[in-house]
Amino acid sequence: MQFLPIFMNIRNQTCLVVGGGQVAARKVYLIDRAGGKTKVVSPSLCDELARWAQTGSLEHLEREFSADDINGAKLVVAATNDAELNRTVSELAKAQGIPVNVVDNPDLCSYIMPSVIDRSPVQIAISTGGASPVLARLLRAKLETFIPAAYGRLATFLERFRSKVKARFAGNTDEIRHFWEGVLEGPIADKLVAGKDIEAESDLEKAIDEAEISGHHGEVYLVGAGPGDPDLLTFRALRLMQRADVVVYDRLVSAPILDLVRRDAEFIYAGKERDKHTLPQEGINALLVRIAKEGKKVLRLKGGDPFIFGRGGEEIETLMEEGVPFQVVPGITAAAGCSSYAGIPLTHRDYVQSCMFVTGHLKDGSTNLNWDVIAQPNQTVVFYMGLHTIAPLCENLIKHGLDASTPAALVEQGTTQNQRVHIGDLSSLAELVVQNNVKPPTLIIVGNVVKLHEKLKWFEPAGEKTSSYPTAGK
Ligand code: SAH
Repeated sequence: MQFLPIFMNIRNQTCLVVGGGQVAARKVYLIDRAGGKTKVVSPSLCDELARWAQTGSLEHLEREFSADDINGAKLVVAATNDAELNRTVSELAKAQGIPVNVVDNPDLCSYIMPSVIDRSPVQIAISTGGASPVLARLLRAKLETFIPAAYGRLATFLERFRSKVKARFAGNTDEIRHFWEGVLEGPIADKLVAGKDIEAESDLEKAIDEAEISGHHGEVYLVGAGPGDPDLLTFRALRLMQRADVVVYDRLVSAPILDLVRRDAEFIYAGKERDKHTLPQEGINALLVRIAKEGKKVLRLKGGDPFIFGRGGEEIETLMEEGVPFQVVPGITAAAGCSSYAGIPLTHRDYVQSCMFVTGHLKDGSTNLNWDVIAQPNQTVVFYMGLHTIAPLCENLIKHGLDASTPAALVEQGTTQNQRVHIGDLSSLAELVVQNNVKPPTLIIVGNVVKLHEKLKWFEPAGEKTSSYPTAGK
C-alpha cells in the first residue's frame, strides 16, 4: 500500500485552503461537509466560493498568502495555479507537521484526497494513489450505482441497536456478527431501504428478543475457488468467503483469491502437496467437524471444483455423519479454466466426440488406468495431477494405440498471470517438462483439439515474479 487510508475528524477545526478557483472550491466543499472551518486565502474568489463566503460557510482572507497563515491549521490545501507558491505552502506546512495536499502534485502532498461516495455515516473512499484520478472517478461512478441511497439511513438505524445486540449475545463477537449479517441480508434491511422504517424497527426488536443463543450455528461451506483467476469465482463463493470465521484452504487456492477472504478470519493451511500432505484427509475431515461444532462458520476453500478430483465428497460424508450443516459451491474446474485460457476448446466437433478427465496419480501410486478406454483417437483426454507421471502416461497412450504425434499441451498455473502453455506431442511431452522446468499445478491436455491453440490463443498473462500460489514450489 502506498498510502494509509484513514478518516480524519476535522469537526470545528480550522483548515486552510490557499487559492480561490474551482479546484479550491471542490476541496472547500468536502471540508465543509466534514464539519471543518475553512479559511481561504486568495486575492480573488470564483463565483461559487464568493457565494459561500457571503453565507458565512468560509472565512475569506482577501490577499496574497503569507507564511503565518499556516499557523493553527489542522489541515492545509494548496490549490493555486502558481506551482512555486504551492511548493512553498507545502514546505511550510510540512515543517510544522501539518498535513498538506497540493492539488495535482502527489510529490508535494503528505496526504491525498480520495474520491468519495457519501452515504453518511457510510463513506467509501477511492484512491489510485494519484496515478489516475479519472480512474478513481470512474470507479466511484460504478459503485454509486450499486449502493442504495438509503444505506446511510440504514447504518444510522442499526447503530441505535448496537449495544442492545451486544448485550443480548453477551459480547460473543462471532454471534454478534452472524446476527447482523442475517439482518443485513434479510427482510429487515430490505424494509428499511424501502422506507418501511416502523415495520423494520419492530421486526428488529423481535429478532433480537428471539435470537437463539446456543453457540451452535456452526456450518461448513465447501467452496470451489476455481483455477486461479479471482474473476472466475462465483458470486456465492465470494459471499461465503466474506462470512467465514475460519478458512481451511489448499495449496491450489491462489494468493489473489485468498486476499478476498474476510480479513479477520483465522486461516488454516491444509496443504495437499504430493508426498507432503500437511494434514491427512481424515485429519481435515475431523478438523472441519471440530471447528463447526464450536459454532463457527468454516470456509473449506478448494482449488477448482470440490467434486472434481477434490475429495469434497469424503469431507461432506463425514460432516453428514456428524450432523454438521454444510453447503457445496461448485467452482470452475482446472480443465474448463485452463482450456479456455489456453484457447483449446475441449470438445470442438471437428475433432472429437468426447472428453475424459483422468487422474494421473492413482491412490496406489501407480498409473494402472483403463488405457483401452482412454487411448481413443476421437477423444480429448485431460490429465489432472499428471506432471510427475507424465512419461508413463504418454508411453501408455502410445502403447494402447494413439499415434506418437498426437498433439498434447501442458498448461502451467492456468488462468493466472503466470500461465504458461507448452505445446508438443506424446513423444516430446515428458522432455518438454524438463526443458522448460514446468512446475505444478499443471494440467495435461491430449488430443487433436490441441492444434487449435495456435489459432485461438487469446490470453496474454502479464507474467509475475512470484508464483500465483502462495505455497507452490516450496
Ligand atoms: N479440484 C481441482 C483439481 C484438484 S487436483 C479442480 O477441479 O480443478 C489438482 C490438479 O489439478 C493439479 O495437479 C493440476 O493438474 C490441476 N490444476 C488445478 N489448478 C490448476 C491450474 N491453475 N493450472 C493448471 N493445472 C491445475
